[in-house]
Amino acid sequence: MSITSILQDVFGYQAFRGPQHEIIEHVTHGGDALVLMPTGGGKSLCYQIPAIARQQAGQGITVVISPLIALMHDQVGALHEAGVKAEFLNSTLTFEQASQVERRLMQGDITLLYAAPERVTTPRFLAQLDSLQERGHLSLFAIDEAHCVSQWGHDFRPEYRALTVLHERYASVPRIALTATADALTRADIIERLQLQDARLFISSFDRPNIRYTIVEKREASQQLLRFIRDEHMGDAGVVYCQSRKKVEDTAELLCDNGIAALPYHAGLDAKVRQANQDRFLRTEGIVMVATIAFGMGIDKPDVRFVAHLDMPKNIEGYYQETGRAGRDGEAADAWMCYGLQDVVNQRRMIDESPAEEEFKQGLRGKLDALLGLAEATDCRRVRLLRYFDEASQPCGNCDNCLQAPDVWDATDAARKLLSTIYRVQQMSGFGFGAGHIIDILRGKATEKVVQRGHEGLSTFGIGLDLSETQWRGVLRQLLAIGAVAVDAQAFNTLALTETSRAVLKGEVPIRLRQALAKPERKSRRSASPSSTAKAPAVLDAAQQQRYAALKTWRAEVAKEHNLPAYVIFHDATLVAIAQSAPQSLEQLQGISGLGVRKLEAYGEAVLAVIEALEGG
Ligand code: ADP
Ligand code: ZN
Repeated sequence: MSITSILQDVFGYQAFRGPQHEIIEHVTHGGDALVLMPTGGGKSLCYQIPAIARQQAGQGITVVISPLIALMHDQVGALHEAGVKAEFLNSTLTFEQASQVERRLMQGDITLLYAAPERVTTPRFLAQLDSLQERGHLSLFAIDEAHCVSQWGHDFRPEYRALTVLHERYASVPRIALTATADALTRADIIERLQLQDARLFISSFDRPNIRYTIVEKREASQQLLRFIRDEHMGDAGVVYCQSRKKVEDTAELLCDNGIAALPYHAGLDAKVRQANQDRFLRTEGIVMVATIAFGMGIDKPDVRFVAHLDMPKNIEGYYQETGRAGRDGEAADAWMCYGLQDVVNQRRMIDESPAEEEFKQGLRGKLDALLGLAEATDCRRVRLLRYFDEASQPCGNCDNCLQAPDVWDATDAARKLLSTIYRVQQMSGFGFGAGHIIDILRGKATEKVVQRGHEGLSTFGIGLDLSETQWRGVLRQLLAIGAVAVDAQAFNTLALTETSRAVLKGEVPIRLRQALAKPERKSRRSASPSSTAKAPAVLDAAQQQRYAALKTWRAEVAKEHNLPAYVIFHDATLVAIAQSAPQSLEQLQGISGLGVRKLEAYGEAVLAVIEALEGG
């Protein structure tokens, strides 16, 4: 079969997306490739179709290396639904099950074998690969989540380093490495670590136009989150990221108390509970997962409608990968982050206190600064995000700053007042003070501490009455973000001047701050373009809605029977298309996106029966 017929017949898709065609052709013909594509871009087909084509050409099996043990069952299940011979080998299998897979592997009865890196590099597995290789049955290695090889990402897995054995031992077997992380540093690291110097590099656009980026100033984070979900995402599936386990627990509880179905996920939970929560998130509609970054890699649930950050991530790669989990189905989705002074302080402190080499810390600081720049930005967020990935673009019209240009005010004078206060208290007392105290002085508050220290007598005492405490915190946050103020974590979070402070003090660096909106106006998109797939899409008329609902009920039963998430059986978009066309024969069903030959065979009659039952009644 040609690669186009595999796309259409096996997967039921009409056309390749973006660079898929070129990649698949290159790999099918035995070329090595490094594929950088954003989350939701369609990476899986880039190795699945070559695997099928090469197996059909008698070239044997493809080994997919992936760190996602907990998701292999569903990934392989999805391939089974499409009629592809796929299996996985990992620690969740019993000895008998594993032996059976190995037997079939040696018989060449498998097209794609998924395995974790620590399994692939065992002597036992390598011996099996040797034997396949001798018989010319080892077709391709696909290395998924390839950024795990790099220490720059938060997903670093030392086992990935050992994967060079594939190249050294099976030099003639082509390799395709894939990742959604694309900054230059990580990319160079992947190429070097996996010895992909000769591989062809495929870089897709990293834009995810259906995701709307919003970053709000942190006041009462959990209440802000609650309002965001209530106003825009009731009943939707979403992910909320928090830094600490405790905050995960508290936030999940708060959401539940407010009628939002939420579950916690973090590394401190029992493995069984974690797996159960993940399964529920994948298999039930409208669940909000509150999680640390331990959750999410490889989650391919297509209808996640929002990703919210209650704490700021470490860098733009992390942020982009986490937010990328929203809207994989291409429908409207939100990336919402709540960001404040404490985030800057915490992230800076974590770097300062880490035991790493200074050079490494500098790398981390540079990455954090880029994210802080994004958070403080008053221009298009997407332009900045894409520029970080070396992609030029125009203002997007689908981020908070584009939708409502923020009012900015000139905070240069305020910044100078703040810096000179920090300077003066240091001069007067011989040591520094924290943010609260400095702001008290500026706002002329004669607190006990101020009086005791004699800070009432400072020339800056009371010169900042024109600004509210929140505004002062905003000024300080921005100064921290640009590195004009440092926080000394070893000394009770006291503030200190830096090299950069001088330029600000001299008025050489203009400081422009976003005017805090009294009540942030955000037009809900639900009414504007009500195409969310989580609920009955409003593009459907009454009869179509009815069919859609009946199809969903039917799909839920099938999914349960097969122990798979519903979207593995059919995506919502496929059900919408069926509901719209109300097919009366298998011919009419054919050609609907997401309906390959195998699914038509397996489910065609049942789908027609669901439609017919409605028309009859
Ligand atoms: P990634 O691994 O890059 O995050 P996936 O491989 O999971 O993305 O693909 C994202 C979604 O897009 C999946 O639901 C997949 O079925 C769908 N998809 C991929 N390629 C195509 C295509 N050519 N046409 C239609 N849908 C596609
Ligand atoms: Zn924009």
